[in-house]
Amino acid sequence: MNTRATFAVHEPATGALVDMAPNHTAQDATQAIERAHAAWPAWRSRTAGERAKLLRAWHDLILAHREPIAVIMSREAGKVMSESRGEVDYGAAFVEWFAEEARRTYGDVIPSPSPDRRLFALRQSVGVVAAITPWNFPLAMITRKVAPALAAGCPVIIKPATETPLTALYLERLAHEAGIPADVYQTLTTTANAELGAVFLSDARVRKVSFTGSTAVGKQLVAQSAQHLTKLSLELGGNAPILVFEDADIDAAVRGTVAAKFRHNGQTCVCVNRVYVHESVHEAFIDKFTAAVQQIRSGNPSDDTVQVGPLISERALHKVEGLVADAVAGGARIALGGVATGGQYYAPTVLVDVRSDMRIAKEEVFGPVAPIYAFRTEAEAIALANDTSYGLAAYLYSSNQARCWRVAEALEYGMVGINESLMATVVAPFGGIKESGIGREGSRYGMDAYLEMKYVCLGGLGWGD
Ligand code: NAP
Repeated sequence: MNTRATFAVHEPATGALVDMAPNHTAQDATQAIERAHAAWPAWRSRTAGERAKLLRAWHDLILAHREPIAVIMSREAGKVMSESRGEVDYGAAFVEWFAEEARRTYGDVIPSPSPDRRLFALRQSVGVVAAITPWNFPLAMITRKVAPALAAGCPVIIKPATETPLTALYLERLAHEAGIPADVYQTLTTTANAELGAVFLSDARVRKVSFTGSTAVGKQLVAQSAQHLTKLSLELGGNAPILVFEDADIDAAVRGTVAAKFRHNGQTCVCVNRVYVHESVHEAFIDKFTAAVQQIRSGNPSDDTVQVGPLISERALHKVEGLVADAVAGGARIALGGVATGGQYYAPTVLVDVRSDMRIAKEEVFGPVAPIYAFRTEAEAIALANDTSYGLAAYLYSSNQARCWRVAEALEYGMVGINESLMATVVAPFGGIKESGIGREGSRYGMDAYLEMKYVCLGGLGWGD
């Protein structure tokens, strides 16, 4: 493989150079596909138990390297150390989970409509998988795809984000150390994202592309997949609402909103993007929420006491500034923050008097800005929450059980947190509806994306004596 060309990886916190990464080309991608395709028969022929054992060894190595991985992740993604350590644990948990699930890819024996036949549904590996992942979860978005693919018997090629190739390379090294064959798990770090994406979708040997990233790029991949009808799993953007009803425990709602808004400095797909509060508790909520946000400590993510770091890029910073400026021009008021604080840092911000026709209500903020809206009725809250093309995560706070169920069922989202704002776990299905994606990752459903169903009819069994 031509790995002579490299590109620089910089810290979003300081601009300092972290390291260089190999800059793979479209030609490298074709060679990787060749190798993966050649490795598929041997990999899928291994027993599920053998594949599980290798995954388990990889899991153990990831945890043994928890601290150095967290340091690299923190440096290249600007993620605070506590969250980076948490992501290593979360990401490793997918490897453990799918090592266990590998042994449970059951098929079916179907009651036959005729006595001389037996009918079976087998589940077999899809084939070569290409996975494209984002910078905001440099480890977990990889393991959430690689672990089920490997468990199912598929070779995988990972193309990580340009901003965070080093965590991806570390993970790959540990996988190979664990005994997972080099051609079965390959990583192509690159700055040529579109070229590699085009190679994956124009090569018929790639049977599946699993993508986590923006809805805009997801739509491009859907268009490109038409050529060979490549199977796609898409985990895309969100525009998460949180509904705080008048019967909610306001302190719990404040804590939940802070946690779900400011995680990774607002840069996760399930971060709260819109805060809807009933008019009767609106003022009380704003006071308590603003006081809580004021306590958030922003700074260099390598400092263990810091809670939020920088934004990933200058572009991200300008986007946040633009959304706040647009809201303020439309009549919103800054209750806290609202300023860039040097480098790629933006102060944790609370915006009030925000309206649903503003850009900030429609676009993914991906930054530390919480826009607060008021509502009058439950029906209005549901309508406002659903008034978006996205459908990934939504949250609600209420102490009325009937309302909790009613609203959870009415919210058009793939995931709903009731009186809980940090709900992601390996055992539950993660994914969105509408323009937030196709398919689910994690949980017992997470293997489905990497398995094809084959119907086998065994005939000629005769009628017996
Ligand atoms: P992005 O710009 O769509 O990039 C995601 C990945 O796609 C990166 O590896 C990127 O490479 C690559 N890419 C970009 N253009 C491409 C193209 N034309 N063809 C093939 N690959 C291409 O998204 P991002 O800014 O990194 O990530 C943030 C987005 O991801 C947000 O919208 C967030 O909500 C979403 N997200 C969703 C989930 C979920 O589970 N639903 C989880 C995390 C993040 P480069 O880095 O080289 O550009």
